[in-house]
Amino acid sequence: MLSRIHQFDPKRIYNSYKDEIDKAVHDVLSQGSYIGGEFVKSFEEELASYLSENNEYTVISCANGTDALELAFRAANLKPGDEILMPSHNYVSAVEMAVNMGLVPIWVDTAPDAFTIEYRASELVRYLSSKTKALVAVNMYGMSAQWQELRNFCTQYGLILIEDNAQGLGGQLRVDNQLRKLGTFGDISTMSFFPTKPLGCMGDGGAICCRKDSPYADRLRRLHIHGQEVKYQFVEPGRNSRLDALQAAILRVKLRHLSETLGEQARVAKSYSDALAIVDSRCLTLPTNGIDLSKSYPSWHLYTIRVKRDLRDKLRAFLSDQKIDAGVYYPVPMHQVECYSSISSSHSCVCKRSDELSEEILSLPCYAFMEEEEVARVVAAVIEFFYN
Ligand SMILES: *Cc1c(COP(=O)(O)O)cnc(C)c1O
Repeated sequence: MLSRIHQFDPKRIYNSYKDEIDKAVHDVLSQGSYIGGEFVKSFEEELASYLSENNEYTVISCANGTDALELAFRAANLKPGDEILMPSHNYVSAVEMAVNMGLVPIWVDTAPDAFTIEYRASELVRYLSSKTKALVAVNMYGMSAQWQELRNFCTQYGLILIEDNAQGLGGQLRVDNQLRKLGTFGDISTMSFFPTKPLGCMGDGGAICCRKDSPYADRLRRLHIHGQEVKYQFVEPGRNSRLDALQAAILRVKLRHLSETLGEQARVAKSYSDALAIVDSRCLTLPTNGIDLSKSYPSWHLYTIRVKRDLRDKLRAFLSDQKIDAGVYYPVPMHQVECYSSISSSHSCVCKRSDELSEEILSLPCYAFMEEEEVARVVAAVIEFFYN
């Protein structure tokens, strides 16, 4: 009997590095310091040097990627009533944390031929008001946003640029002929270590990254531990949002192997792109369409195709019948989510491209250590669907 091919299968990474991960867990258990301590500190330092070799960045770990966004908004000094531009095609975390803090989300449409936020200044200016303070951009599916254009826009209008890199860790973008890791483009950048993310732990985890010399670094360091400068010196009200030592120890092992696991995902993505190129582009759009792969290296967190609306759900059901899971990330764009849509109702909120995307996107299984036969099964099923 055919076994089901899941959207993600993080256990394959565990099985591949089982001895090292088991040892790391055992080391933490026997060493006795379970919150904070050496494992967390080492992980933060190792991740910072992974993100930038010249040691310009600092990483502050926290409990998850959603908290990381809240901490970023707080460190950026955003206040109730401030407006914050964010993608309408997104997961819920950014809007949720913004609304919890009394900020006003302003939804921005997706850029043409992309999954990431609009970046053209001529379009972005339409969303500005005297209350606009920040812009959040997301490396959606692990594909880089247009960071140079976004940076120029934010500089011109005095906005803080926040990079949600929950899906992009390990991806890169070539800027001025230099390759730079995603997660180093925001004034503040956030990450999630949810198990299926590019660098996943075995529970919840998250982190924030900023330049060492930025005004945010010290603030972030204290905000996530009750606003303490040193123990019991409470400088401002903070949060309790910590990465625990067990997760840090596991993440250290997985970070050492990250280039291998991401290489595995890139291999699957390339197989899909090569094999599915024969399908009529009027029926199926590949994720590589519209990106320059010599400049932009996705983490391939998700391999997301676009299928004309009436066919998308049929293809998804067809794959499911063949025991292949394909997911929709995300079925409802944020400006259409009922509990949030009313909040910015005073603003014109037309995000046509995000609406279209939500009806056309479908993510094929793409994960490290996926077997050749599994990739071939997915390819064969998609091709059979379009040629029958
Ligand atoms: C996963 C994710 C988050 C939230 O991360 P958690 O660790 O689950 O809180 C935020 N933003 C994006 C884009 C994500 O994909």
